[in-house]
Amino acid sequence: MAENNPTLSIVVPAYNEESVLHEFYDRTVKVMDGLSFSSEIIFINDGSTDRSLEIMKELREKDKRVAIIDLSRNFGKEIALTAGLDHARGEIAIPIDADLQDPPEFIPEMIKYWEQGYNVVNARRASRQGESWLKLTTASMFYRLVKRLDSRIDIPANVGDFRLIDRKALDALSQMREQHRFMKGLFSIIGFNQITVKYERDPRFDGISKFNYWKLWNFSLEGITSFTTLPLRLASYMGVIIAAIAFIYGIFIFFKTALFGDPVQGFPTLFVAVSFLGGIQLLFLGVIGEYLGRMFNETKRRPLYFTNEIVQSEVSPKQTTKTTKPKAT
Ligand code: UDP
Ligand code: MG
Repeated sequence: MAENNPTLSIVVPAYNEESVLHEFYDRTVKVMDGLSFSSEIIFINDGSTDRSLEIMKELREKDKRVAIIDLSRNFGKEIALTAGLDHARGEIAIPIDADLQDPPEFIPEMIKYWEQGYNVVNARRASRQGESWLKLTTASMFYRLVKRLDSRIDIPANVGDFRLIDRKALDALSQMREQHRFMKGLFSIIGFNQITVKYERDPRFDGISKFNYWKLWNFSLEGITSFTTLPLRLASYMGVIIAAIAFIYGIFIFFKTALFGDPVQGFPTLFVAVSFLGGIQLLFLGVIGEYLGRMFNETKRRPLYFTNEIVQSEVSPKQTTKTTKPKAT
């Protein structure tokens, strides 16, 4: 393997973040300098249309610990993150948002847990300053829903992408090449020794969030449909229930007609039944379509991303090299 691998790779997806990159770099480097081992920052330029890439290159000029992955277009955060993790050379990787909502100062804290033997250290947001009430409630509703749908997928509430991942977990993660990537879910799938620790989430340093409610909604659909087939099963349950009701109603009509004769009637009932069933059928066709569409996308097995350019970091080992992970206690 390569000689001078850093111990820690800090993975930073960035999409139009020109206003925060300098500040991000300054704050992160302070943290890196305080560590007892070597580290790198991997910036992933996710098809930014502003000066983000230029700034990354400037930073690289003055600091060889900076690596740059320049994606060929905007692929979305999950894919950008995947690209970064694929190229992380460290013994551990920490994905972090460029907008400084995740404080880099928390990194040493996470490392402590790794040194205690944890493979994944999830950072849980204790508070989310500067985010709307609606976003917070919808987010928490979503996590609860996913857990309801499939209790095997226990996504810790309020855990974002800010976490520490060791080599074992990284390798497990990199084997999952699905197009529809729901990172938080993937982490709950891989298992290993995980711990969740609390931190304060800061408001965005500058710029605006790249997520609107429509994107978040799609993101939630992604989460549900790529992790559970329960919506499909719902169709069968619904079918059984409706058929049972229809059967009972049929018996009722039979006896009613036998006992009281049949003055022609029942147009409203018929209309309601037909339109109700039509609605249900369309709904579940849609659900099936969601899954079919996903299968369509996955079976093509296209690469997850394309890169314009990859600049690796050059890291010189620090005096005190602590590249081997301590034994679990
Ligand atoms: N991001 C990205 N590609 C995108 C959207 C966002 O790489 O298509 C990055 C963005 O630059 C930031 C992180 O993902 O570093 C989180 O994005 P944002 O702050 O917009 O999301 P929020 O914090 O509101 O969830
Ligand atoms: Mg943000």
